[in-house]
Amino acid sequence: MAPAAANAAKVQLVNGRLHEVYGPRERYSARDPLEELILTILSQNTSDRNSGRAWRILQSRYRTWDEVLAAETSELYDAIKSAGLGNIKAPRIQNVLHEILDRRGSFDLHFLRDLPLAEAKRWLTSLPGIGPKTAACVLCFACDMPALPVDTHVHRVSLRLGLIGPKVGADAAHDLLEQAVPPEDVYAFHVNMILHGRQICHAQRPECGRCPLADLCDYYAAPRAQPAVSTIGG
Ligand code: SF4
Repeated sequence: MAPAAANAAKVQLVNGRLHEVYGPRERYSARDPLEELILTILSQNTSDRNSGRAWRILQSRYRTWDEVLAAETSELYDAIKSAGLGNIKAPRIQNVLHEILDRRGSFDLHFLRDLPLAEAKRWLTSLPGIGPKTAACVLCFACDMPALPVDTHVHRVSLRLGLIGPKVGADAAHDLLEQAVPPEDVYAFHVNMILHGRQICHAQRPECGRCPLADLCDYYAAPRAQPAVSTIGG
């Protein structure tokens, strides 16, 4: 059964509140779409610091994507190992490059900007090992399209607020949230939700007492078991 739509009215309220608290967001990156795709693969399950290091080493060892594709996979693994999971990421990068070259005859992904959003997503997610989050990162950050990447922060905060149903996974949340946020606000919503998740709505011990979204939050409103109070002689 398809997951229920996001709570669009609440998404609008949260979006407005985030805007008031964290301010407007300007897109600042116009990275090449293929670079964004490879960088996002490197960033899977690791910190920005580790993936950034792997990216710099990759750039220093290979001058072109043809060279990356032609490299021994073990060599590529060595170049990107600081990003972790090199045994998965090195073949994934080469498989993706191979598939793009096979389909397009070049590594140029700028054509994605001219496709309808759903079609661009379908094209990217049909590449080997590319899921909705990686596709959304490429389309949002490098193609200036209203795709909404749902990372662990966006997913957790959305669940707690009740923007999506309690059983909706991160992959399914992409389309649901994206349909509920006005296209022109998608980028700001993504960035502000991450900021909120990092600063206040932590995975462990969310700081609800100082949360500007508390009056909108299902998690905050839900009754929770109180710790037992021990009394003298009781
Ligand atoms: S009230 Fe608490 S759980 Fe809800 S969004 Fe704020 S910090 Fe997160």
